[in-house]
Amino acid sequence: AELACDKAKASGGNQSAFFDPTLAEAAEQRRHMENDLRQAVREQQFVLYYQPIAELANHRVAGAEALIRWRHPERGLIPPDHFIPIVEQSGLINEIGLWVLETACAQLAAWQAAGSTHYLSINVSGRQIPHGLPPAAIADALARHGVEPGRLAVEITEGILLNNISEAQSWLHAVQQLGIPVYLDDFGTGYSSLSYLKRFPLDTLKIDRAFVQDMQPGNSEHSLVEAIIAMARSLGLKVVAEGVENAAQMKMLGAMGCHYGQGYFLSRPMPADEFAESAKDIDRRLAMPDDGR
Ligand code: C2E
Ligand code: MG
Ligand code: MG
Ligand code: MG
Repeated sequence: AELACDKAKASGGNQSAFFDPTLAEAAEQRRHMENDLRQAVREQQFVLYYQPIAELANHRVAGAEALIRWRHPERGLIPPDHFIPIVEQSGLINEIGLWVLETACAQLAAWQAAGSTHYLSINVSGRQIPHGLPPAAIADALARHGVEPGRLAVEITEGILLNNISEAQSWLHAVQQLGIPVYLDDFGTGYSSLSYLKRFPLDTLKIDRAFVQDMQPGNSEHSLVEAIIAMARSLGLKVVAEGVENAAQMKMLGAMGCHYGQGYFLSRPMPADEFAESAKDIDRRLAMPDDGR
């Protein structure tokens, strides 16, 4: 930052008066982070965590969402919100996205070999569509790992539908043609438009956790969640409620006919080696008729 400041002064005039050191620092930090991220891609410093998703009607873990973390050599585990926006802008998202696909398919193959039927959904950013993550690359990864397409799902957000509507549409159609379910993530936030639900091939809506967390019997969030579930059901879509943090929310969602729940009440996202054991624990807990639910 000091260097940039000197440069601004050296270039003369009034420039230094307009020079904002915090902005320069932010830019510098970002460049630094981009370099670190390039190295992270080369050295495979990423790891996928897995968060269970339970089917509410039969009280069992049905699958999981894969959530990326960056295992930084000095700074430890960094959550995706801190680096995904940067890799999206720098184009690194395509390489990372392919790594996510590969790792998810390997994980599915391992679960399959262990006799588990859990499915896995991966998050796909708008920047990866359509060329960063070609449907053919997904088909290829599944085939190489011997995983049925129905075991993998892709989570997209409404953002991808904002520009390049027709490209997004054909990407989604191609993915669905392969037999891979498409989830619309964070539903209810952003620029939601109900027309998307008709225009895009979707299998599942994930209701954003903001609605789920504020649900109380009789309040408007409760009504909204109830209405979203009813609408989804009548359109033939499945619903996952995100951010389920307690038994009361789980109960309300079950009563509303929500298909799946995901959230800290079941488990936080965890490393692969903890997943199988944890899924069994959750199944046991949910099977208890009293208050585990
Ligand atoms: P998302 O796809 O909506 O994932 C759900 C986020 O909510 C996760 O945050 C998860 O840890 C968190 N969460 C789950 N249950 C609860 C709960 O009960 N309470 C609260 N407060 N939070 C809960 P995380 O892992 O930090 O991921 C944040 C976002 O980063 C994701 O939101 C997704 O948009 C993005 N992301 C994660 N992995 C990837 C990836 O591999 N590729 C891309 N492009 N984006 C990713
Ligand atoms: Mg997601
Ligand atoms: Mg979400
Ligand atoms: Mg999100």
